[in-house]
Amino acid sequence: MKKLFLIYFLIFFSVTFLFASEIQVINLSKNKWEYRWGDSPFEKNIPFWTTEKSDSKKWQEINFPSNPPNRAKKTNVWYRVQLPKTLTKDPTLYIFSIDLISEVYYKSKQIYHFGDFDEKGKGEFKGWPWHMISLPTNSEGEYLYFRVYSNYIDIGLWGEILISSKGYLFKKILKDDIPKIMIGSIATFVGILFILSFLSRFRRIELFLLGLLFLAQGIEVLVSVKVIQIYLFFPLLKQYLLAIAFFFFPVGIALFMDKTIKEKVPFNLIKRLWQVHLVYLLCAIIGSLLGFYDITSTYEYFDILYNFISLPILTFFMIYFFFKGDKETKIITSSFLIISMYWLYSSLIAYGIVPWAEYPSHVAIFSCLLLLAYSIINKLNYANELKEQNDELQIISTIDHLTKLNNRKSIDSALEINENIFRRYNDIFSIILLDIDDFKEVNDTHGHLVGDKVLIDIARILKNCTREIDIVGRWGGEEFLIVCPNTNEKEAAKVAEKLRDKIEKNQFDVVGNKTVSFGVSTYKENDSIIKLLRRADEAMYSSKTKGKNRVTIR
Ligand code: GH3
Ligand code: MG
Ligand code: MG
Repeated sequence: MKKLFLIYFLIFFSVTFLFASEIQVINLSKNKWEYRWGDSPFEKNIPFWTTEKSDSKKWQEINFPSNPPNRAKKTNVWYRVQLPKTLTKDPTLYIFSIDLISEVYYKSKQIYHFGDFDEKGKGEFKGWPWHMISLPTNSEGEYLYFRVYSNYIDIGLWGEILISSKGYLFKKILKDDIPKIMIGSIATFVGILFILSFLSRFRRIELFLLGLLFLAQGIEVLVSVKVIQIYLFFPLLKQYLLAIAFFFFPVGIALFMDKTIKEKVPFNLIKRLWQVHLVYLLCAIIGSLLGFYDITSTYEYFDILYNFISLPILTFFMIYFFFKGDKETKIITSSFLIISMYWLYSSLIAYGIVPWAEYPSHVAIFSCLLLLAYSIINKLNYANELKEQNDELQIISTIDHLTKLNNRKSIDSALEINENIFRRYNDIFSIILLDIDDFKEVNDTHGHLVGDKVLIDIARILKNCTREIDIVGRWGGEEFLIVCPNTNEKEAAKVAEKLRDKIEKNQFDVVGNKTVSFGVSTYKENDSIIKLLRRADEAMYSSKTKGKNRVTIR
């Protein structure tokens, strides 16, 4: 992990340094811009407004070529700007974005167009790509005219308007793109990973939702990578993808909160929120694909719905859950908060409340990914701990604490398994029950601790003198039971005899010699475990009554 970070920062900084060297660039938005509402009359494809004297009173000054005052319902506007007296070499005009379509004129000739104007001067939305326009040679000090049509809330140019050499502009684009490509791919990858891990288990719907959220954010970042446009120019498709990712955000977050956070929310507000936004998403995309309305207009209503209703409600609950929830809830809500704040910031930019900056979505998403990765690692650690504890519990619940032999519970299941094997494969098995002779005496004369030591020693002898597949267990007090798979009566009796002999000859600490009585029995046709045990018990008691320290078969 540490290494990855190091590599990431190394690449990031070396790229920054490589492209940081100052290259001449003109910020054209600082020049004097003028606007004129309406559309110019045309004569033989020449717009009349570009032929008038440049000091015409009909043009009015504007700070930035966007949204001139007194728009009312106007959809057409012209802008013009006088190019600087000196230009860079290979002068190229870069525009971040245009609302919505435009033609650019130089000396009454069209030198660029984005979108198509009909006879009425109107046209269709084509997406929001960036633009690069080669300026004619010797265009210093000349006027550049922009014919613009928009039925969207904004009309005009948007974002950076720069003049520089093509080479510099490409470098600039690439510099912005590299972190986006990296973060976009990681987010997409994480998204797919989450979705796959959900598909493999079909258990935790939260994984699926988080996957969708990250996939949407990843696509949002990747689609906004500028160089893609050089190779794949599908600005409208890109806009649809962006819209889906954008509109999905509140659906994903509210749904995630609805599914993961157990607390009751008044009026089921969070549920209502994701439902409303899901319907909005579907209607916006399907409706605009079918041509009922422009995808641009769906942004306007979304902004109102999201910024004034959903975002405040979601933010309120995120903060509430942040303070009330456990560690994991805190991490998830804070990562959501970061993305929400980013959306808020981009809305403030869109409304012109804060100065224009390219949306730093990748920064927000990167922070989220870090938080989420932390939460997942936390969870993995927790899962490991849980597994260790489980293993420990497993041992505690099947092993006898004093002798470390199987306890009664695991002997019971061993008997059951062997009974099943007998029924299915007719594979015979026997049991050996043993009880220490005069054990009370040991306790009474030497105390419980010495008695315990005898139990431990006998357990060791039983374990050492039986086969690996025999199941040796403590049946209770000072009684032991051995299950011998694949063993008939005779063979079991032999084992018992061997054990009896070993114990009889063993010198126990403090107590010296000790003997044990055995009962042996074999599972028969139409038998049951209860009957088997009863027979072994009777056999063992018969050994006791016959004088102890012997083996009886029944
Ligand atoms: P018998 O030869 O007839 O078996 O005589 P016995 O003295 O062994 O009689 P019995 O089997 O009834 O006695 C069992 C004794 O084992 C009673 C109890 O105090 C002792 N005992 C049971 N569990 C433990 C244990 O965990 N530790 C110790 N030290 N003694 C135990
Ligand atoms: Mg006993
Ligand atoms: Mg006994």
